[in-house]
Amino acid sequence: MANSHYKAGRHFLQIPGPTNVPDRVLRAMDYPTIDHRGPDFAKIGAACLAGIKTIFKTDSHVVIYPASGTGAWEAALVNLLNEGDKVLMVETGHFASLWHKMASRLGLETEFLETDWRRGADPSAVEDRLRADTEQQIKAVCVVHNETSTGSTTRIDDIRKAIDAAGHDAYFMVDTISSLASIDYRHDEWGVDVTVSGSQKGLMLPPGLSFNALSERAIDASKTAGMRRSYWDWQEQIAANASGAFPYTPATNLLYGLDEAITMLHEEGLDNVFARHDRHAEATRRAVQQWGLEVLCQEPINYSSSLTAVLLPDGHNADDFRATVLDNFDMSLGNGLSKLAGKVFRIGHLGDFNDLMLMGTLSGVEMGLKLADIPHQTGGVATAMAYLSDTADS
Ligand SMILES: *Cc1c(COP(=O)(O)O)cnc(C)c1O
Repeated sequence: MANSHYKAGRHFLQIPGPTNVPDRVLRAMDYPTIDHRGPDFAKIGAACLAGIKTIFKTDSHVVIYPASGTGAWEAALVNLLNEGDKVLMVETGHFASLWHKMASRLGLETEFLETDWRRGADPSAVEDRLRADTEQQIKAVCVVHNETSTGSTTRIDDIRKAIDAAGHDAYFMVDTISSLASIDYRHDEWGVDVTVSGSQKGLMLPPGLSFNALSERAIDASKTAGMRRSYWDWQEQIAANASGAFPYTPATNLLYGLDEAITMLHEEGLDNVFARHDRHAEATRRAVQQWGLEVLCQEPINYSSSLTAVLLPDGHNADDFRATVLDNFDMSLGNGLSKLAGKVFRIGHLGDFNDLMLMGTLSGVEMGLKLADIPHQTGGVATAMAYLSDTADS
């Protein structure tokens, strides 16, 4: 890189995705790219397609695209919905707003349930809206599980219950891009028709893969429904996947990494992975409270285990603070997005992450608060440390 100089030690990539890629995943990818129509590749393709189902907790099919998460958003919409169909979305924050904008651009008739960006989607608001739709004109309900711009997680099981309580038949689509493999998620049990996800957050991979986990109902309906599409077509994927192949060149080396990441998640155990994220999130919130700063999410039931968004006091710019931390401690923190720009910074504590990495992260934040002259109380790091040692597996 031009104009850069060597910085000793490891950079702290504490944005809420992309996350730190573990050495085991990097090693797994550091292997020659092979013939994606040959027998060796078919074994890897089949292993990834089978393994990823265990992460989504589905017995149905998961489509894997060489694309960012945004591509998988589009795939979900165009395979199942027709132009002019009505979709109900919930404005939990910046990412829900982007998905909403995409749906409008694709010619869907969108309805956006507004929120204040400080909580998750409200199941009773969804239920009320669906009950009022007596002619069942709403074809899909779209919700972001973990809103990465705000650090608020929606209870997907409660949204499922709300759809059922309203007796509504709409498809249920969920974005788990920053929650899969970090926060408990159950595609089949929660009756989700399309779960969208991406590689670069909880799955510990570089950016470049994204996913649609499907329901049987969605697979059947897509045979006759949906918009004009080609690259995103589920049926072509499913047909090729039967022999461990893909309809076009897959991201071969990312699939080597995916296979390894799935193995690692099962070695740790998914429940342990979720508990680790919950514990790190709790330690982080305790530090924030000790600093006398405010966590953006106001509803404890919606606290995110992937990231924590922290509000700075009025008159202090969060981007200046982040620049101070980057310059002095070589740590990247997440920025405030759209209406939160300059007001919040986000601490990513997801992916391949442990207690001492969290302590390093919080130390960088606390030292940065001092250097940037942000009014705060010291002792956040000590508070988090006490919590981690009290709750350590001994
Ligand atoms: C990161 C993210 C996206 C966007 O994914 P890209 O890979 O950048 O296209 C969408 N939704 C959520 C919730 C995210 O966290």
